[in-house]
Amino acid sequence: MTSIPSLLVEQHDFFSSGSTKPLTSRKQALKRLKKAIVEREDAICDALYSDFKKPKFESLATETQMVLAELNHIINNVAFWARPKRVPLSLSNFPSRDWIQYEPFGQVLVISPWNYPFMLAMSPLIGAVAAGNTVVLKPSELSPATSKILDDIISEVFDAKHVAVVEGGVETSQELLAQKWNYIFFTGSTRVGKIVYKSAAAHLTPVTLELGGKNPCIIDASAPVKLAAKRIVWGKFINAGQTCLAPDYLLVHEAVKDKLVAALQHHIIEFYGEDVQASNDFARIATEGQYKRLKAMLNDGTLRFGGKFDDDDRYISPTLLENPSMDSEAMQGEIFGPVLPIFSYEKESDIERYIENYGRPLALYVFSNRKSFLKRILTRFSFGGGAINDTVIHITNKNMPFGGVGNSGFGGYHGKHSFELFSHKKSIVKKANWLDLPFRYPPYNMAETLIKKFKHLL
Ligand code: NAD
Repeated sequence: MTSIPSLLVEQHDFFSSGSTKPLTSRKQALKRLKKAIVEREDAICDALYSDFKKPKFESLATETQMVLAELNHIINNVAFWARPKRVPLSLSNFPSRDWIQYEPFGQVLVISPWNYPFMLAMSPLIGAVAAGNTVVLKPSELSPATSKILDDIISEVFDAKHVAVVEGGVETSQELLAQKWNYIFFTGSTRVGKIVYKSAAAHLTPVTLELGGKNPCIIDASAPVKLAAKRIVWGKFINAGQTCLAPDYLLVHEAVKDKLVAALQHHIIEFYGEDVQASNDFARIATEGQYKRLKAMLNDGTLRFGGKFDDDDRYISPTLLENPSMDSEAMQGEIFGPVLPIFSYEKESDIERYIENYGRPLALYVFSNRKSFLKRILTRFSFGGGAINDTVIHITNKNMPFGGVGNSGFGGYHGKHSFELFSHKKSIVKKANWLDLPFRYPPYNMAETLIKKFKHLL
């Protein structure tokens, strides 16, 4: 196997040769990738099932089909996005033509997590290739079957000097991070995000950090409670709650709390049956470490539903916990599993006390029919993105950048935003030669009077 430094040299030479730049070859590469994914869609779903019993529909909807939709969108539009964009000229440069020209950064490192192991590896990779970069992908060691199929697909579609998968754990990741890259795209925990950022700083490498957070979900007394409960249950328990965007905890107005809890219970049973463990539509916890962490959350607060577990199956049932203490395991950090704490509030100011306890979240959800309330929530709190009257779905609109803010990371991607993220924007002024206004050249004489007179035009 090629060593990491040798792989980097090969990719460097390939990038320097200009081979990644022609748009036709970028599009052809992405079309080959699409074909390989379509051909192996069942095998990808099998790999996801083998990693954490991910239900097939969820694998199709949140992994393969999301990636294929992203591929189609990028293949169809990349040529347009990549065109230099004329901008209005500045009068001080008159006469000139001014434009922004996109160029690939060069060598990109993508490090991905285990929770959506196919989609979160492929999605940034596609953007980086579309923008004309080489890529090394380091998928998670905690979803080994999916990492293996990622490697199979990438090595079939790409020459390693263009795109390569390097499998391995923390040490491999650290060896990769010790190299000099032109861009690093990391998805994972805030803790590791800080390590990545520090390594990148040593080489002044730009980074995108897609991190986690504690996502609040607010249910106002005016909300359609039954529908809200249905959408919350879906967004919370898809992927068994192992979703960076999942609602982490609920803040519900006291007046509708009991109605909401009853509706949540109803929809959990409706979706997964009385015996959730027997349902084919509910995933397992991906690793032993995560399982133990989540199991420890079940003992604090009033159990309003679930609380069941099975060590041999890494199964934690959908669980509703009312009022766990703020220093409980569940409220210390991101839950990232099928445990849903519920708190009630009477005054709007109570909401702030909860949300401000944590850093800026990746997502915020609010269910309400009151415009003024919605406006106050959206302007009062900073968060990566979110939804009104639903959960999680904003990730599916490829016209919007997906990403965090503050503690939940920085940099947004998907569709055009991915292309732009992985491109350096060069600003070019092409000065005409038929006129050369004298004012900027010494001796300045009249220049001071002129600059004051025409300052509003500059
Ligand atoms: P993680 O940070 O433990 O691992 C992510 C990647 O970093 C893996 O490939 C891993 O091998 C590598 N890594 C782990 N420790 C490292 C170290 N010390 N040095 C260098 N590399 C290291 O994250 P995870 O457990 O795989 O994923 C869960 C986290 O990811 C959650 O916090 C979740 O919110 C977040 N997440 C965020 C998004 C998003 O888009 N914002 C999406 C999915 C997951």
